[in-house]
Amino acid sequence: LITASVAATKGRVLIVGATGFIGQFIAEASLDSGRATFVLARSFYDTPSKAKTVKTLQDKGATVIHGVIRDQEFVERVLKEHEIDIVISAVGGAKILDQTILVRAIKAVGTIKRFLPSEFGHDVDRADPVEPGLTMYKEKREIRRLIEECGVPYTYICCNSIASWPYHDNTHPSEVLPPLEQFQIYGDGTVKAYFVAGLDIGKFTMKTVDDFRALNKSVHFRPSCNFLNINELASLWEKKIGRILPRVTVTEDDLLDAAAENIIPQSIVASFTHDIFIKGCQVNFSVDGPDEVEVSDLYPDESFRTMDECFNDFVSKMDIDRRKGAADEINSTKNHVVEAFPITAMCA
Ligand code: NDP
Repeated sequence: LITASVAATKGRVLIVGATGFIGQFIAEASLDSGRATFVLARSFYDTPSKAKTVKTLQDKGATVIHGVIRDQEFVERVLKEHEIDIVISAVGGAKILDQTILVRAIKAVGTIKRFLPSEFGHDVDRADPVEPGLTMYKEKREIRRLIEECGVPYTYICCNSIASWPYHDNTHPSEVLPPLEQFQIYGDGTVKAYFVAGLDIGKFTMKTVDDFRALNKSVHFRPSCNFLNINELASLWEKKIGRILPRVTVTEDDLLDAAAENIIPQSIVASFTHDIFIKGCQVNFSVDGPDEVEVSDLYPDESFRTMDECFNDFVSKMDIDRRKGAADEINSTKNHVVEAFPITAMCA
């Protein structure tokens, strides 16, 4: 009863892209916050993991609406029928402009109290990466301008880097273990960045959605506990694994060459890596404009998961994988013995 009344007082949330890398964190956090949570997902999935994600969200109480943002009429119907108050989009980098339909539908319906477009990175009005990353930022800027022109109430989440080893060729680096053979250090490795755990991206994003202090603002995630350069990150990981790894330098030119190759999406990540670890795009400005706020100023009593804790998670994952590997080996040996009998019998 209490849960139902909490859900009733909080805005009803529609999440687009909940099967994606960032969207899953948002959807989980929305459900954890006790909100009525709706997810727009395809009726069939291109991978079993997406089907599993949708099932998990459903089991936790999400209402699944089948479909994609494809026409304005469909989206308007979804928003009205489910009496949605808050729309959060986490569509991937290649689909940023699909949100045009979403913004126009939100404007037409006129009852949405907050829209969070697919941002979840840098302040795209400030950052100026080389191509091909720049094209994605231009598209994100285009969506921002459309939102503002339409008078749609918004919050832009600038959460900086996801807590992980910042591989320059991987769009979802937190799904991969940090290096075990050698580190690739960008430039001299001294340019700092902010790292935020996926769980915290979800948690703090959901805090902003009906916070009037975040209305029509960019919210910057700058956890002081996770303000690290890549040399510090490497040392921290070495402590966790109890080994010193060789370090090779990836120069500014190496990153620019990787970006210029224009292999999508890796070259996009290379251009962002250049922007972060060579140009310092996360740190070369202060958050003091009238339309921006730091998340730690909004929620000073809330802590962030530290990079140390996030690296512990990777170590636990390594242990689990190792145990699983050992168990698989034992099973395959057992199977081998079982399967050996008929062969022996046949030979006899
Ligand atoms: P993913 O590609 O992992 O997921 C995108 C999601 O959007 C999927 O669920 C996809 O569903 C859905 N989707 C795409 N098009 C449509 C559509 N037209 N209608 C409905 N759903 C749609 O994206 P990411 O999580 O990688 O990216 C999300 C945002 O986060 C981006 O803005 C990206 O730039 C940012 N990002 C930030 C990172 C950071 O470190 N700060 C790291 C990675 C991303 P389906 O698969 O079924 O099409």
